[in-house]
Amino acid sequence: MTDSTEARYPNSEALYARALKVIPGGVSSPVRAFRAVGGTPLFITRAAGAEVTDADGRTYLDMVGSWGPLIAGHAHPDVAGAVREALGRGTTFGAPCEPEVALAERVVASYPGIEQVRFVSSGTEAVMSAIRLARAYTGRDLIVKFAGCYHGHADHLLVAAGSGLATFGKPSSAGVPEAFTACTCVLPLDDEAAARALFARQGARIAAVIIEPVPANHGLLLQRREFLAALRQLTREHGTLLIFDEVISGFRLARGGAAELYGITPDLATFGKVIGGGMPVGAFGGPRRIMSRLAPEGDTYQAGTLSGNPVAMTAGLATLDVLERSQGWEQLERTGAELEALLRPVLERAPFPVHLVRQGSLIWMAFNEAGAPRAAATLTERESGRFAQLFHAMLARGVYLPPSAYEACFLSLAHTRAHLQRFTQALADALPAVT
Ligand SMILES: *Cc1c(COP(=O)(O)O)cnc(C)c1O
Repeated sequence: MTDSTEARYPNSEALYARALKVIPGGVSSPVRAFRAVGGTPLFITRAAGAEVTDADGRTYLDMVGSWGPLIAGHAHPDVAGAVREALGRGTTFGAPCEPEVALAERVVASYPGIEQVRFVSSGTEAVMSAIRLARAYTGRDLIVKFAGCYHGHADHLLVAAGSGLATFGKPSSAGVPEAFTACTCVLPLDDEAAARALFARQGARIAAVIIEPVPANHGLLLQRREFLAALRQLTREHGTLLIFDEVISGFRLARGGAAELYGITPDLATFGKVIGGGMPVGAFGGPRRIMSRLAPEGDTYQAGTLSGNPVAMTAGLATLDVLERSQGWEQLERTGAELEALLRPVLERAPFPVHLVRQGSLIWMAFNEAGAPRAAATLTERESGRFAQLFHAMLARGVYLPPSAYEACFLSLAHTRAHLQRFTQALADALPAVT
């Protein structure tokens, strides 16, 4: 890794050393630690538009976008201005406020089938609450998730596929009792037969099937519409709720998320990231007949001190305003298509196989030699080693990629043609450096 040893990051290294003493692994969320690519995580001091600046004063083209929220780019003046004004009116009231009503109205108007929304402070909370609600509504305990989909870190979703179809999931983290995951079945993506077989045996006991309709947490595992349609049909036949986890895809791929894109309406949907415009926000929604089971109307408890926070709601609203005003979804699709067109010929000349996968503003370079997967596939050491080298070669050329071969790049409205060309040139220069 010549590039990474040449490049030194003294200020980030000093901050990391301090952090390691007082924060486990030096980070507040594991993927930030660069464990998959090696080296010192960059400490970011400021960001604007499509660029981030690190503690050593280097500025990079940012392809991470804080992992999804920053669809308008960093520190968008309209979002930052709205947040500043909201701050002046108070940071939290612990009482209802107008911006949460306005944002809920926006979700209801945007997303198919949603009549009511409840706000929380993270995607994890949104998913956890939606599942509790689905269990309450159906009076059933079992839930189904798919290998390769991430739904936050709630206990009963930290589950790895067991061996064989008949088994329930095993905890994928220490600290999760097997009893907690005993109610979670794990299925493979892209496999209608496996889903049908499970429903044939257990259908009447399954409260909910949860899926990222555009799985974007294990690379970008694009699903066939027929597969999602089969899940919609199976769940309907068995009185099971279908939950679309749109924490990444919601308000990113279309105003109505993946539900709009595929023309498939789930029973419940979860949101996060974009909907908070860079502030800690999650949300879940569905028809009134289901949502009314939530306290205080119903018997299903769910709450949060900072839920519907006025500053966070304002950031979300301002972000959605920017998207509406600039016909953002069309622009993001154009930007994604342009980057794809620029990158394809470069990747075709790469000294090893790299496959480009894109949906709108989500773009993933799959290092799987066997081709772009549609279900969870583990990279070999050789494949992930190539990515680690490319990551550092790109960093040395001023491009900040997600520090893991399993993470997609996030484009924003701030990514201009010049940025895309810069990315392409850096990639063309960096690829031959990978051995
Ligand atoms: C990020 C993510 C979550 C968890 O959201 P947090 O805000 O990190 O808790 C849940 N589901 C999906 C699909 C995500 O990408």
